[in-house]
Amino acid sequence: MFLTISTTGTPERPATDLGHLLHKHPDKAQTFSTSHGTAHVFYPEASAERCTAALLLEVDPVALVRRGKGKGRGGAPDAALAQYVNDRPYAASSLLSVAMTAVFKSALNGVCRAMPERAQEALPLRIEVPALPARGGAELVHKLFAPLGWTRVEAVAVQLDEQFPEWGDSRYVRLVLEGELRLADALRQLYVLLPVLDDAKHYWVAPDEVDKLLRAGEGWLAGHPEQKLITSRYLSRRWGLTRQAMERLELVRLAESDDLDVESVDNAVDETTDTEEKPVPLAEQRRAAILEALGTAGASRVLDLGCGQGQLVQAMLRDVRFTEIVGVDVSMRALAVAARRLKLDRMGERQAGRITLRQGALTYTDKQLKGYDAAVLSEVIEHLDLPRLPALEYAVFGSARPRTVLVTTPNVEYNVRWETLPAGHVRHGDHRFEWTRQEFRDWAGQVAGRHGYAVRFVPVGPEDPEVGPPTQMAVFTMTTADGTTTKGTTAHEATKEAKAA
Ligand code: SAH
Repeated sequence: MFLTISTTGTPERPATDLGHLLHKHPDKAQTFSTSHGTAHVFYPEASAERCTAALLLEVDPVALVRRGKGKGRGGAPDAALAQYVNDRPYAASSLLSVAMTAVFKSALNGVCRAMPERAQEALPLRIEVPALPARGGAELVHKLFAPLGWTRVEAVAVQLDEQFPEWGDSRYVRLVLEGELRLADALRQLYVLLPVLDDAKHYWVAPDEVDKLLRAGEGWLAGHPEQKLITSRYLSRRWGLTRQAMERLELVRLAESDDLDVESVDNAVDETTDTEEKPVPLAEQRRAAILEALGTAGASRVLDLGCGQGQLVQAMLRDVRFTEIVGVDVSMRALAVAARRLKLDRMGERQAGRITLRQGALTYTDKQLKGYDAAVLSEVIEHLDLPRLPALEYAVFGSARPRTVLVTTPNVEYNVRWETLPAGHVRHGDHRFEWTRQEFRDWAGQVAGRHGYAVRFVPVGPEDPEVGPPTQMAVFTMTTADGTTTKGTTAHEATKEAKAA
């Protein structure tokens, strides 16, 4: 089992600082005995420009079997031979996680006495795991790592035998991650996600695994789109423990989201079609719907108009598909909160390069907003006085003219379903109007007609048979050829068309 961690540096901030952060000197090869075998740490390269630490775990299969028996994890015992002849010695798995805790304990905890501030900074990191068993394949690897701030997530299936490609792929992938992250965060993610991907049955689960999971998941697991899969696999599908972990993660998520006061009614939604899962706040369902529509549109350069406190910007930042994200809002206070939420001041250059936060009023045209793939107006139009709406319409659809525009707004018909909302009230003190589905359709249809867009409507949130969904979303797609932003001219569209042809 093999894992490398590389970073780059400059003479002032040498890459070899990695040695301090890992508490392992770059000039030494060291050996540690772990419960399942011997772990070696050494540095294939160590210069100011580039430094790579390697963790190699030699598993002792016999010790593994003996331990396994002693601990009695339950379930059917492996066939006698399979206990000794299996992939454990070669493939990264939970054993590597266990070795990481033994060898990189302080680094996992983000502790570095020699360089405390460096341990808190994001570093340019490259992680490679040449043979990672991945149940769920490359696709799942992407789903797990892409939302975590990596700018490159590469998972290539390893062929069963290079000489016989027709035999197809093995269940292993070669994993490469690149991005600017805190070392401790990267290590914690691997600590949890390597065994999750492996999904093997050879490691036992004690009640304190929930605590371990929550500690290792601090700062990234609560709110991860695959939180449930991660939790359930990590806890070997022990339903009681999984449930407990999910509930605690939900509390973490609520404590972390300081937007409770903003769209408080939205967050009170307690309806969900999936009875097993905790209810997902409407604001989150909205973001998911927006991200999905942006994905369908193949948008990578996106405007978030009226971005507020930056929750959507943050979600987009976690997704490597979005290469340029511009948040615009009229409120400086909201932008300051957004900058803090995104930790803009502590962000690495490359990540920060993907984001712009700008103060601006959407009722005025702005040349700098031209030429983007998509614009999002999430819960914004209802904050404008109706007579100002045509000005916003012109600034967005007439002047900026992105290929795709997403507009979400409350469906007023649904208000009767909110238990906390007195009859006849709007959902938020600053809403100047709230529309029925028909009113929204009429407005959107006219806008589309005036500016050369087609429009379709997507319900967001639980759809009530009588009054419809709580949020309504219009997806506008440009139909007329105009300038450089015509449909079919981006690289993405071009490849899609080439593939289709
Ligand atoms: N899009 C976010 C925030 C919605 S709240 C979300 O979905 O959660 C509406 C936001 O629109 C507020 O942050 C408000 O400051 C902003 N806003 C309202 N009128 C605006 C205008 N004319 N120009 C720019 N931003 C405006």
